Amino acid sequence: MEPDSIELVDIGANLGHESFAHDLDAVLARARAAGVVQLVVTGASREGARAALALARAHPGLLYATAGVHPHHALEVTAEGEAELRALQAQPEVVANGECGLDYYRDLAPRPAQRRAFERQLELAAANGKPLFLHQRDAHADYMAILRQFDGRLGPCVTHCFTGTRAEMYECLDAGHSIGITGWLCDERRGQHLREIVRDIPPDRLLVETDAPYLLPRTVKPAPKDRRNEPSYLRHIVEELARDRGEDLATTAALSTANARAFFRLPVGP
Ligand SMILES: [Zn+2]
Repeated sequence: MEPDSIELVDIGANLGHESFAHDLDAVLARARAAGVVQLVVTGASREGARAALALARAHPGLLYATAGVHPHHALEVTAEGEAELRALQAQPEVVANGECGLDYYRDLAPRPAQRRAFERQLELAAANGKPLFLHQRDAHADYMAILRQFDGRLGPCVTHCFTGTRAEMYECLDAGHSIGITGWLCDERRGQHLREIVRDIPPDRLLVETDAPYLLPRTVKPAPKDRRNEPSYLRHIVEELARDRGEDLATTAALSTANARAFFRLPVGP
C-alpha cells in the first residue's frame, strides 16, 4: 500500500480549543493531507459541546461532535445543564455522549460532584443509546463501579486516552470497552508500560486519537515551537502503535479506521 493511501480517523480532537481559533482551516487542510479523513471533535463542557456541534455543522462529512461534560467541569451538570446536554446529544452531528468520567489526578472538581455528574450523564446515555466517549484518570475503581450500575443499558464505550495498567486495561476490555490510544504512547519516558500492553488490545477494540491540542507526540521532530498538537500528527501515533503491536502501518491504520466508523456509525469517508 502506498503511504499516501492510508486513511485515519481521529476520534478525539479538541478543535474548539482557543489555540485553533486563528487557523482551523489550515489545521484541517494539513490533517487531510496527512490522511486524516474524518475527525470527532470532543465536546467537554456545555460551551465546548455547543462549539463542537457548530464545527461539525460547518464541516459536514469531515467533522463530527461529541457532547458531554468532563469531570473537571462536573459542577456544570445542573438540571439546566442536563437539559442542554440532552438537546445537544439528540442532534445527528453529535455521534457520541461525552466526554464524561472521573479525574482524580487533577481533582479540579470535588469527587462527589464528579461521580454525580458521571452518573447523570450515563443516565442520559442510557436513554439516547449513542456511544460513550469516556475519561478516567487515577479513578479506575470508582469508574468501573459506576459503569457497572449501568450494565446492559449503554451503547458502545471507549475509554479514551488510556494510560493505565495492564490489569486496568483488561478490566475495561472485559467490560466491552474499546481503547483509545494517544501520543502518550510516543513518550519514551512515561509511555513505556503502554508500549508493552497495546499488543493485547483485540484488533476490533483499537481506536486512535490525538487529543489535540494536548499530548504532542514526542516523535514529532522538530517539535512545533508552540508545542500545540494537531490532527495531522495522528500518523505518528499510529506508526508507534503499529511498531508496538508488531503490525504493518497499513494494517493498524485500516483496522483503527474501520473500528472508528463502526463505533461512531460514521459514513465511509469522502
Ligand atoms: Zn480526556
